Amino acid sequence: MPIRVISSTAELHEYTRGRLRAGQSLALVPTMGFLHDGHTSLMREGVRRADVVAASIFVNPTQFGPKEDLSTYPKDRDGDLAKCEAAGVSVAFLPDAHAVYPPGFQTYVNVEKASQGLCGDRRPGHFRGVATVVTKLFTLFRPEVALFGEKDFQQLCVIRALAKDLDLGVDVVGMPTVREADGLAKSSRNSYLSADERQRAVAISRGLFAAQAAFVSGTTRAESLLELVRAQLRAAAIREDYVELRDEATLEPLVQIVAGQRARLFVAGFLGKTRLIDNVRVG
Ligand code: AMP
Repeated sequence: MPIRVISSTAELHEYTRGRLRAGQSLALVPTMGFLHDGHTSLMREGVRRADVVAASIFVNPTQFGPKEDLSTYPKDRDGDLAKCEAAGVSVAFLPDAHAVYPPGFQTYVNVEKASQGLCGDRRPGHFRGVATVVTKLFTLFRPEVALFGEKDFQQLCVIRALAKDLDLGVDVVGMPTVREADGLAKSSRNSYLSADERQRAVAISRGLFAAQAAFVSGTTRAESLLELVRAQLRAAAIREDYVELRDEATLEPLVQIVAGQRARLFVAGFLGKTRLIDNVRVG
């Protein structure tokens, strides 16, 4: 069956009613499009976990700040639909902004604690936009499972919290970060990089992996681990937005990793105007 493309919320409600009547389970993969192997890894996992897989492709305006890249965000509708279909997606939701936010829209979802720090501080309002659109997608699709990438680890924490707090009955699954051969985390925003920036961008993952290796060799102090990351950023002239060590479960900042603790190193940095993020587990 060719992929079904839905663009209105009315048609999506009708689809969901039919699916629930038919007793089919659904896995949802929310995206902003310009799809790569990171996105399709979520879709393929959805195929393993549910009867049908749906993807949304929506560049959500409420999660962009006024000076961010909403208007230039890359798009490839036909390529995206082909990738969805090849990955086993049977329904794609491609609404325009008015379908999601009709005139008079005034209801927002705020996940208070998980939205603080890291990207929450650097991009005010970002996670409010994310939480609002994801809640709306969960309401429209009523998925049993929803898949998100660890690449956006704080986002995953925000969505886990909202699904739990609002009793949405969705199993939120986090999937490992898919990387380029040299280690750079795949991202739609990598398409903004010049050839020179693309070469330098690998310093982000190189720094994270260096810190990971240092931890394995016994370095547990945040200051030392963060300096290893920062040294790579400096050498590649990447402007630091943040480099932080946090507890994986609570996202509390850490000064030291204690035995048995799961921690994560988080990086955001700028190459020219392009802001890239990445993270790895340590501990
Ligand atoms: P985006 O289109 O950037 O909003 O991402 C949509 C979903 O794909 C989110 O759950 C992301 O965390 C996930 N994702 C993006 N990049 C990757 C990657 N390199 N590996 C795994 N998942 C990813």
